[in-house]
Amino acid sequence: MNRKQSSLLYTEALEHIVGGVNSPSRSFKAVGGGAPVFMKRAQGAHFWDVDDNRYIDYLAAYGPIITGHAHPHITEAITRAVSNGALYGTPTELEIQLARMLKEAIPSMDKVRFVNSGTEAVMTTIRVARAYTKRNKIIKFAGCYHGHSDLVLVAAGSGPSTLGIPDSAGIPTSIANEVITVPFNDLDGLRQALEHWGDDVAAVMVEPIVGNFGMVMPKPGFLEGLCRMAHDNGSLVIYDEVITAFRFHYGSTQTYAGLENHDAIQPDLTALGKIIGGGLPIGAYGGTKQVMEQVAPLGPAYQAGTMAGNPASISAGIACLEVLQGERVYEEMERLAITLTEGLQSSADVHGVPLTINRIRGAFSTHFCDHPVTNYDEAQDTDGEAFGEFFRHMLDRGINLAPSKYEAWFLTTAHTDADIEATLTAADEAFRLMAQGK
Ligand code: PMP
Repeated sequence: MNRKQSSLLYTEALEHIVGGVNSPSRSFKAVGGGAPVFMKRAQGAHFWDVDDNRYIDYLAAYGPIITGHAHPHITEAITRAVSNGALYGTPTELEIQLARMLKEAIPSMDKVRFVNSGTEAVMTTIRVARAYTKRNKIIKFAGCYHGHSDLVLVAAGSGPSTLGIPDSAGIPTSIANEVITVPFNDLDGLRQALEHWGDDVAAVMVEPIVGNFGMVMPKPGFLEGLCRMAHDNGSLVIYDEVITAFRFHYGSTQTYAGLENHDAIQPDLTALGKIIGGGLPIGAYGGTKQVMEQVAPLGPAYQAGTMAGNPASISAGIACLEVLQGERVYEEMERLAITLTEGLQSSADVHGVPLTINRIRGAFSTHFCDHPVTNYDEAQDTDGEAFGEFFRHMLDRGINLAPSKYEAWFLTTAHTDADIEATLTAADEAFRLMAQGK
């Protein structure tokens, strides 16, 4: 496949944009380097690059594009919004509508506040939890990624670990010292941390279903134990549902039928992003009334945003959720994901390539290993080089994946049986070449 124009643009981009990319996860550093593909158009499940190659896309822009690219209902909503003025700096009725939709789908949130990114949402939940508890420390889980704010970029997940940077430079030790990291799915580890740091712990924060070191389910009882221990300790529970909300069903992990005992796994604060903006910049956080009353202008915890709740992002979010309310939307994504993952697994088995697939409804991750992946250590202990080879073979056959062994494949409402079939043909060829050492 000829990607000459992409290479030329990458050379030019390197002159002007640091690293040539506006988010490090877009670089191909973790899959052997070289020019990333410069896309120029996207429609449905497909991308076209600047050399006019077509790709089937499973990146879905790292999650938000669950309805496929340029979905007409969302495009129409955005166009309508911006033609009425892009930004007001005043409240609008639209914000109430999206807030109401989020609350109906995620009952632990009595009150919501919109921000502009998942990073902002998480960052603010921490401030609110600290204001409410008057404590400082946060417990997080190894490999979970919660955006790039100082406090959570400690033992973070896909981005930094992919690049082999465990912690970012530029974060004072004094701040890192406020974060305690525990292995995911390890209640004993959490118990020990709480026993040790007890009264200092403002919140236990978690991706309740992990999306940042592959798709990883909490073990039965993990979230119940986490909530109980945190609350017994007087700490709040923060769920980072930036990836997971509206991903597996119309709602969040807190109401997901694949988990039991919903009453016992309700957080105090939830951070949202990605899907709820339909592809435009957004974040949101929400929680119980008494906790959210900490936030200005009601309470002492300050948080603000010039762009927050802008009509375009909010309209796109409403339109995206409306599409997701359609009949059998999630069932259909899951059906395609089952066909795809079963085909990938059997192809890998036939060619003798070790592969462990973690699938949760329409999202899954491909770990090049022959052991289960239930925590970050197990995810790290997979063959990154093999993933890099697979990634390149797939790209050369018109299949666009995230350039990281930790990231998920996302099915969208736009993928078809024909896309799955073409993907499986490409994957069979990729596994065959890998088995031959090519
Ligand atoms: N939390 C989680 C779980 C995420 O996956 C991400 C982004 N991948 C973020 C927070 C940060 O979101 P954003 O990139 O919108 O700042």
